[in-house]
Amino acid sequence: MSCHVIQLNPENCCGCGACEQICPVGAIRLRPDSEGFPHPEVNLESCNKCDACRSACPAVAENRKRITSVPCKIYAGRSKNVKLVMQSTSGALFSELAMRILEMNGVIYGCAWKRGVLQAEHIRVAAEEELERLRQSKYVQSATGSTYRAIRKDLTNGIQVLYSGTPCQIAGLKLFLRKEYSNLLTVDLLCHGVPSPLMLEEYVKWIEKQEKCSISELKFRAKRNSGYRAYLSYKRMDGKTRIKLAGLQPYLYGFYSGFFNRKSCYTCPFKSSERAGDITLADFWGLEKAHPEIADWMKYGASLCMFNTERGLSWHDVVSKNVELVPSTLDKAAARNPALSGQTHGNERPQLRDRIYAELKEQGFDWLVTHRLYRHGSWIHLLIPASVKNFLRKLKNK
Ligand SMILES: Cc1cc2nc3c(=O)[nH]c(=O)nc-3n(C[C@H](O)[C@H](O)[C@H](O)COP(=O)(O)OP(=O)(O)OC[C@H]3O[C@@H](n4cnc5c(N)ncnc54)[C@H](O)[C@@H]3O)c2cc1C
Ligand code: SF4
Ligand code: SF4
Ligand code: SF4
Repeated sequence: MSCHVIQLNPENCCGCGACEQICPVGAIRLRPDSEGFPHPEVNLESCNKCDACRSACPAVAENRKRITSVPCKIYAGRSKNVKLVMQSTSGALFSELAMRILEMNGVIYGCAWKRGVLQAEHIRVAAEEELERLRQSKYVQSATGSTYRAIRKDLTNGIQVLYSGTPCQIAGLKLFLRKEYSNLLTVDLLCHGVPSPLMLEEYVKWIEKQEKCSISELKFRAKRNSGYRAYLSYKRMDGKTRIKLAGLQPYLYGFYSGFFNRKSCYTCPFKSSERAGDITLADFWGLEKAHPEIADWMKYGASLCMFNTERGLSWHDVVSKNVELVPSTLDKAAARNPALSGQTHGNERPQLRDRIYAELKEQGFDWLVTHRLYRHGSWIHLLIPASVKNFLRKLKNK
């Protein structure tokens, strides 16, 4: 019998790191593959063939069956705190929930930029001042590091833990833990895929070359008065903040076109109503059609919130504190979100995808910008205020 990690088709591995963290003899290490994605490597001389890596792996279908559930209550939601909504990707439900858990002396695990560099990693946060680091979607694969082990320690010590991440990261955590802990709450995102840390690194170098200085505090979903989803921002070394039209950024063009995803993302079983998290948070795309009565929420962004388990549902009243929630349905939520409906559109692997990663190495990011990532649809329509869009929609429906 050979080790599971060696036998697994590498295209099905999501890089969650559960195998590395569970291996009792430290035989597994995640290292960047040729495209820069973290991938497990096994030292077969140390491996004792205990099979723990198989039991923790979310790529194994029988394992997933043990830890997934379908939503029982679905809402459109947003925080009543507009400032918080402006700082968040969609409706700031993550921050509202995290703040309640911190008030109960709990801890939050989520994705932050590593200090000093634009690489994403999961960290532990125990104070509200640090929560800001977890806000906003970082469109790149985040390293789980040793967080699964740290969580097991917190849970054993009776601390309330909120873990937030992509569905495959939540699945990896649940399988790593092997048993239920009543003091663990998991929140997964709807996730259409993650680019490699190498792709992001090269994009950041490309910006830094233009700015002639290093940058920090990259926000893929910066917000202004109107234009939800229309801006990207970063901070220059001299403290100035640059705000760019997202539609003109080659990285976002590549990301939204699905060119940059990890290979496992194109066959991801979590792009469906089978959820790994107790609660799912996402953008409520298509809100203006699904719920015309709250279409104006799209001015700053609205969240989709799905309660998937009894545990998740038991937090309903906590989630709804300081939050507006409007009941919805799976059909309405999935209509415009391929990361939930599993529709082919938006999930297929583009023909150019593998070539782009090869060309990144051979030609560099500058070359990709000129030859592959140049057809940036200008997202001017996203700048039209929600109130004007709603008015036009009403006229059309008359
Ligand atoms: C890579 C990626 C793809 C996504 N794809 C979709 C999609 O197709 N459809 C959709 O509706 N929503 C998608 N989302 C989710 C959406 O962008 C928001 O994260 C969600 O609506 C929550 O927003 P919020 O305002 O409540 O909180 P925010 O404060 O904006 O969300 C922050 C939360 O996201 C987590 N997070 C941020 N970056 C990462 C990362 N790289 N890996 C793991 N966790 C991360 C943080 O841990 C934190 O919990 C995606 C998010 C990511 C990171
Ligand atoms: S079979 Fe056991 S020892 Fe071998 S790599 Fe997997 S977890 Fe480690
Ligand atoms: S546990 Fe995660 S990182 Fe390890 S082989 Fe399975 S999917 Fe890949
Ligand atoms: S699309 Fe699926 S495999 Fe890819 S990061 Fe998201 S949850 Fe993981």
